[in-house]
Amino acid sequence: MLVRLLYASRARQPASADLLEAIAATSIENNAALGITGVLCYGNGMFLQALEGDRAEVSRLYHRIVADPRHEDVVLLHFEEILQRDFAACAMGHVHMGRVNTATMLRYSPHAQFDPYRSGGRASLAMLEELMAGASIVARAERRS
Ligand code: FAD
Repeated sequence: MLVRLLYASRARQPASADLLEAIAATSIENNAALGITGVLCYGNGMFLQALEGDRAEVSRLYHRIVADPRHEDVVLLHFEEILQRDFAACAMGHVHMGRVNTATMLRYSPHAQFDPYRSGGRASLAMLEELMAGASIVARAERRS
């Protein structure tokens, strides 16, 4: 059974390019092996991540991510059973929210600044779907050994 999970969190420290790169590398490697796809957004000191895949695998990964000391205030925004994936093309796609245009932000948020806590689950998911459709999500290649 396929599920989709969406959560928000705050970086413990402003996330450097190296930190984002480290998370991306781990995610791409692990998620591909687990059959998990999704998107990770970062902006304004906050993360928004969508995970899709088998219920048990998504659940296990979510618990591992919640325990990660590199972020805090992890809040589950949305969880549902799905018939098909929205982010099937990405083991873990990436978006830097600083690069998303203001009109797109305002369509889904009370303010132009990225803040998934305030936007909530449904609007955040709709925004990710728009970013996916507009090719704003960078899908990095899976690493091969
Ligand atoms: P190990 O690599 O054995 O690490 C042990 C512990 O140290 C874990 O608690 C880990 O969280 C923590 N840790 C690892 N690296 C560092 C570091 N550089 N500094 C401080 N603590 C560290 N992983 C995925 O597989 N898929 C994802 O989609 C994914 N998304 C993430 C999104 C965010 C916002 C964050 C912060 C992390 C994400 N991770 C993701 C990483 C995840 O939290 C685990 O670190 C990773 O899955 C490896 O887990 P492990 O149990 O094998 O830990």
